[in-house]
Formats: sequence, structure tokens, C-alpha cells
Amino acid sequence: MTPTPAPSGAGRPVALVTGGGTGLGLAVAVALARDGYDLALASRSPEHLAAGGRVVRAEGATVLELPVDVRQYDRVAAALETVRDRFGRLDVLVNNAAGNFVQPAEEITPNGWRAVVGIVLDGTFHCSRAAFPLLRAAPGGSIVNVVASYAWMAGPGTAHSAAAKAGVLSLTRTLAVEWARHRIRVNAVAPGPIRTDGTDRQLWTSAERVRAVTDGIPLGRFGAPEDVAEVVRFLVSPRAGYITGEVVTVDGGQWLGNGVMDLLGRTARGDPP
Ligand code: NAP
Repeated sequence: MTPTPAPSGAGRPVALVTGGGTGLGLAVAVALARDGYDLALASRSPEHLAAGGRVVRAEGATVLELPVDVRQYDRVAAALETVRDRFGRLDVLVNNAAGNFVQPAEEITPNGWRAVVGIVLDGTFHCSRAAFPLLRAAPGGSIVNVVASYAWMAGPGTAHSAAAKAGVLSLTRTLAVEWARHRIRVNAVAPGPIRTDGTDRQLWTSAERVRAVTDGIPLGRFGAPEDVAEVVRFLVSPRAGYITGEVVTVDGGQWLGNGVMDLLGRTARGDPP
């Protein structure tokens, strides 16, 4: 059932962050709470939601925890009804939930493919579609989709995730144009390598690996979740009121690499020759 929009404009603005109990999503939720938003956090694990909810409440926000798998449209639609009933409005949707595992393309099973594409691409569409009536009723609705720089670069081991993120980037631009007449802006943020508890456990598992990645980043460091959260804060704010359909890359220059030719005889980070 499509939620019927409640009257907007009353009370604090409200943001829904999928995957908002952990990692980047939690950093985004904290940043928005500091900007005066109340928060709905949506993900599968009640434990993640409870832990994240505690952190966000400590910032003074009212928090609604929504246990939901974004692959299931009916559950997502029901969650949006809960948002409407609890808050009466929704101003911001951050599609951050994702699943991923590094595997060579020839070893990804159809189920594995379906799981990643289902969470990232279907989930982003499901949440955007179900949130539309409330976002349309907001004074200026805003969506931010969290993609990844490997959506347009090659990312060996990420065939499923990269394809899904590229789809989300396309959806970002299509919805930006379709929903502009409803004053809904739709943008994306593309993190590069960001250190979180999860990525430290799964990806950046050795000092050698950390050093190899850092060497390819012109700014010479990994990103922090707050680097991404700051950009989301900006994109949903009136300061970005004339920006839609755009993707902001937050990767320390990683996707540019150290340049095609090193004519200065040193890396782009300015290391001595
Ligand atoms: P994370 O902590 O693992 O975040 C993923 C979140 O998605 C979790 O909170 C998880 O919560 C939720 N989730 C997973 N499957 C779900 C489902 N079916 N339905 C609802 N929620 C689901 O990882 P992260 O690093 O913060 O990543 C956040 C976003 O940044 C992702 O979109 C990721 O692709 C993107 N990104 C991260 C990096 C990086 O270096 N960290 C780089 C590029 C892009 P539950 O387990 O409770 O469901």
C-alpha cells in the first residue's frame, strides 16, 4: 500500500538512513542528528539498530528503529508507513545499505549475484519508490545514494557490487530529472576506501594491504566515515539546493591515481624524487 502523505512542515525534519546502525550509515545519522534531524534507521539486524540507535539518541534525536530487509518491497512500504505514523513527515532518504563480498566474477554464484544486486540496486529503488509520497510532501525532499568509485572504474572482485552501484548511479540521474518537478533532489556520494570496523575486518586486514592502498591515494590516507557524512550533510542542505543528479566522489583522489605520466619524477603526493 502506498503511504498517504501527512501534512509537512511541522516539527523537526526527519531522515531515513538505510544501514544506519553501522559504519558510514551511522556516521551519516549522527551528522544529521547534529543538524537537528530526527532519524529512522532501517536494516535487518535489531542488534545493529539498537546499538546505532543509542549513539544517535545521545545526539538528542528521536530515533525510530525499523528492522527491514530492503530487498522486500512490501516490508519497505510498511516501514515507510511506520515513519509516516510516527513522524508525519520524511525530508531525507539516504540509501546506504549494501551487501558485498570480494570474489572473482567466475566464482560468483547466481545467488550471490542476486543477493548483492538485490540489496544495492533493488533496495535503493524500493526505498525511493516507497518514500516518494512523503518526500514529495516535504518542503524540499532529498535523496542521497551511497555508491562507490568502482561504479565507473574497474574493481576486480566486485563485479556484482560494481554493476549494482553503476545501476544506482543511473537511477540517481533518472530520478533527479523525473522528480525535480516535485522539488525532490537526488544525488549520490561515492566513497573510496573508508576505514570502518567492517572494512578493517574484511578488507584492510594487514599492514601491507593498508600500505598498498594508501600508496595509490594522492591525499595519502584512508577516508573516515565522517568524511562521507560531511558530504551527505551538505547535499541534503539548502546550501546544495541547486544540485541534483550529481555524484560527489570522496576518495582522496584515488580514482585519478597518481596520474598517467609522472613527468615531475615524483608521485602526485609530492614524494621526493
Ligand atoms: P557496513 O557497516 O557493512 O554497512 C552496510 C549496512 O547495510 C549495514 O548496516 C547492514 O545492516 C545494512 N544492510 C545489509 N544488507 C541489508 C538488507 N538486505 N536490508 C537492509 N539493510 C541491509 O559497511 P559500510 O562500509 O559502512 O558501507 C556503507 C555504504 O558505503 C555501502 O553502500 C557501501 O557500499 C558504501 N561504500 C563503503 C566503502 C568503504 O570503504 N567502507 C567504500 C565504498 C562504498 P544489517 O546487517 O543490520 O542489515
